[in-house]
Amino acid sequence: MASNRSELTEELADGESVEGVAVLGSTGSIGRSTLGVLASVAGKNLAVRGLSAAGSWQLLSEQAVATGARRVALMDSSNLGSLRDALAGRSVEILSGQDGLVRLVEADDTQRIITGIVGRAGLESTLAAIDAGKLIGLANKETLVVAGEIVMDRARRRGVTVVPVDSEHSAVFQALSAGRRSEVKRVILTSSGGPFRGATKERLASVTPEEALNHPTWKMGPKITIDSATLMNKALEVIEARWLFDLRPDQIEVVVHPESVIHSMVEFVDGSVVAQLSPPDMRLPIQLALTWPERRDGPSPRMDWSKAFALRFEPPDMDNFPCLGLGYEVITRGGTAPAVLNAANEEAVGRFLAGTLRFLDIPRVCRAILDHHDFDAHPTLDRLVAIDAWARREVVRWAS
Ligand code: NAD
Ligand code: MG
Repeated sequence: MASNRSELTEELADGESVEGVAVLGSTGSIGRSTLGVLASVAGKNLAVRGLSAAGSWQLLSEQAVATGARRVALMDSSNLGSLRDALAGRSVEILSGQDGLVRLVEADDTQRIITGIVGRAGLESTLAAIDAGKLIGLANKETLVVAGEIVMDRARRRGVTVVPVDSEHSAVFQALSAGRRSEVKRVILTSSGGPFRGATKERLASVTPEEALNHPTWKMGPKITIDSATLMNKALEVIEARWLFDLRPDQIEVVVHPESVIHSMVEFVDGSVVAQLSPPDMRLPIQLALTWPERRDGPSPRMDWSKAFALRFEPPDMDNFPCLGLGYEVITRGGTAPAVLNAANEEAVGRFLAGTLRFLDIPRVCRAILDHHDFDAHPTLDRLVAIDAWARREVVRWAS
């Protein structure tokens, strides 16, 4: 479990302690919300130490100035010169590439890492942060989809706590404290149903990127927004829950709940169901990952009980949204299957957004590549990374 408090904090001269935070993917949706929470959460001494981005060097430099970060890492080295010019005269260390990202998470003045990188690209930095013994606020679910067993095993051995940022998993993390681990019967992950809840196959066949990017309850980055429209996001979350909470696949259920107020539930052996509620806003789970094991006052909106409202629940439509079934299939199969599904999906979503693949081709291409991959029941990390690259190449072949 948790590293002890002295490991998590740095003593200041006056005896007060400050905790250093690095935000990976700080220019994205989760990253920007995290910096917003850091600027407004009450009564906790959190200091931004590191920030990272793929290519948005201008926003990264503005964030570094605004937060007083000590180091930044830019993946796209072609813009390093511009970033250096923008930060000239300031004492900000400028790092680049995967090595730079690893240096950023390993820094001695940094105790907590928020992983807001999108996709499998977050795997290496998350592992480096775990190896360095940092507390992880995990938003980057794809890391657990690709290599959940390896990642969580390393975290356990290193005594590292992984606090989920994903709203459903944050809800489960909170609800789990209502009973003993051995008393958990199952978890119920809620899903908004996405923008095409109730849609027919005919309707889904003509979905455009613009329509799919218009999510009813959540404002998020483009990849997860498309995943939410296909329900692949829920598939990835089932896999994420399996590894985060050490559950069997048959202990994880999905229910569609369009209002996105109940973020998920835990059912205990006696039949009691414990839920976590709050208005749909990522700042709350982000804040919990920043302050855990404490709770603080913060910027998240509150439930308004002064007006009547209803909450609805319905089973997911597994026929029209086959991605969810693919998630259950790969988690039951295990081994290389989840990594192949994740890579095929990442590549397919990129192509759908670029207008070169249709909406319903996303589950089709994932199905096809899963069916002819060279399955390995006990893959090493290297094997998972290699099969991820293979699956992406196969999508290119399938689509051409
Ligand atoms: P986003 O696209 O808005 O931001 C992604 C960030 O990662 C950016 O800062 C980008 O510069 C960086 N990045 C992209 N590719 C990279 C690469 N190859 N190497 C290093 N950095 C790279 O995405 P997001 O919506 O903020 O999602 C981030 C992660 O959080 C995803 O795994 C997503 O599933 C998860 N998540 C997001 C939300 C949400 O509300 N946005 C909710 C739950 C979980
Ligand atoms: Mg979620």
